[in-house]
Amino acid sequence: MSRRALITGVTGQDGSYLADRLLADGWEVHGIVRPGDDTTRSAEITTHEIDLTDTDAMTSVVRDLTPAHLYNLAAISSVAQSWDDPVEVARVNGLGALALMEAAWQAQEEGGEPIAFVQASSAEIFGEPSSAPQDEQTPLRPLNPYGAAKALAHLGAEVYRQRGLAVSSLILYNHESPRRPERFVTRKITMAAAAIARGDQDELRLGNLDARRDWGWAPDYVDAMVRAADHPEAADYVIATGESRSVRDFVEAAFTAAGIDAWEPHVTIDPAFYRPADATELVGRATRAREVLGWEPSVSFQEMVKEMVRHDLES
Ligand code: NAP
Repeated sequence: MSRRALITGVTGQDGSYLADRLLADGWEVHGIVRPGDDTTRSAEITTHEIDLTDTDAMTSVVRDLTPAHLYNLAAISSVAQSWDDPVEVARVNGLGALALMEAAWQAQEEGGEPIAFVQASSAEIFGEPSSAPQDEQTPLRPLNPYGAAKALAHLGAEVYRQRGLAVSSLILYNHESPRRPERFVTRKITMAAAAIARGDQDELRLGNLDARRDWGWAPDYVDAMVRAADHPEAADYVIATGESRSVRDFVEAAFTAAGIDAWEPHVTIDPAFYRPADATELVGRATRAREVLGWEPSVSFQEMVKEMVRHDLES
């Protein structure tokens, strides 16, 4: 009999890759989708239309399914958007995660079967850290509503681990793919580079080109989630490439991949895209994930950008 996994956020970038991966591995995959918003990519996923903040409905679906693995990926995932509605972000990304941990703990107590819970945390819990690279010991000091809500869920993971639920909180650094929505700067850049190469667009407007991030390939980060759920002991893990690049590096790589030598004439700096309290350097040290989970990134920065541009040139 195949094992059962439940994924929240299954319509998102990571959720869709995770579902593909688990289905390929022979899992029975269930996914939570928002009511009226079933955009899952595979008919093999059994969907349940529930908002993550509907605690009663989430509790009963977890109790009914008693999944062996529960991946909580649902979130309002844009830092920029989190300034528009900080309270809703706290409800979904923070309280929603805690309520789900409680539901999983209860289902485990009642059913007697262990549930491995993976929480999608974020490097934004560190805010602007005083040291780089960051690891699992770096103090939490979020500087935006998204990071604060993720920090609550991250602390909750420790609380529920102490209570007997195997919760692994994965401190994910930025990870990209052709499935990244256009509201994220990376995809905005690759789509614009492709459109400019095709002659459909002239200009790309960006904020701070000097902002630096540690960018990885989304399917690699999903692989880390599966490894964490499979591991007999739950823990916190930084998942990162360890290499930081600037937005300028990303732009240059994207335009080169699109066959455009000079990107500068096409890029306009627009202060409207500057974020309040933008973290300048987030770079992670994934030593624990490498040593304990045997995880490492398989796709380089250049390959990742090339793959995104290739996809955008074809679509
Ligand atoms: P994403 O593409 O934005 O997907 C987020 C998912 O959450 C979507 O399926 C969305 O549904 C769902 N969702 C949002 N609000 C919900 C609600 N109230 N009830 C139920 N579902 C809800 O994000 P992602 O890039 O795959 O990221 C996956 C997780 O990793 C997120 O928790 C994110 O915060 C975290 N993370 C991501 C990165 C990254 O670089 N990608 C970095 C650090 C942490 P709709 O499709 O209906 O909107």
